[in-house]
Amino acid sequence: MKKDTLKKFKKLFETQRNAIQRNHNSIICDDFRICPEDRYDEADQARADIEQAIRMQLKNREAAHMKKVDEALRRIEEGTFGLCEECDEDIELKRLEARPTATLCVACKEDQERRELLTASKASQNFRSIDRRRFLS
Ligand SMILES: [Zn+2]
Repeated sequence: MKKDTLKKFKKLFETQRNAIQRNHNSIICDDFRICPEDRYDEADQARADIEQAIRMQLKNREAAHMKKVDEALRRIEEGTFGLCEECDEDIELKRLEARPTATLCVACKEDQERRELLTASKASQNFRSIDRRRFLS
């Protein structure tokens, strides 16, 4: 990969990381509005529970994205950014532009998706119901 292109991606990831960090801080600040001592009527409580659950989901999603961005930055440092983890070939630039944190080339990704299609959808259903139980109980 060309140095200029690499630089462009590095800048992108750093921007994303900062944005997530800022967003994360504002979510954490919001949490202070919902403190246990506050008195809610039942409707408020239900709304607060839902807000809390949504916020937790957002946090989880952000944490996952942050991890990917961090890994991408690490790969840039190591010089392995843009290489497919499966076959070691260059990941198509178009694919990286669409999904900068991609670690598999199109062919390997399609393979993986075919393999994981069933289990992944099952797992995410399980995850969601565990999530709900944990945050709404
Ligand atoms: Zn590959």
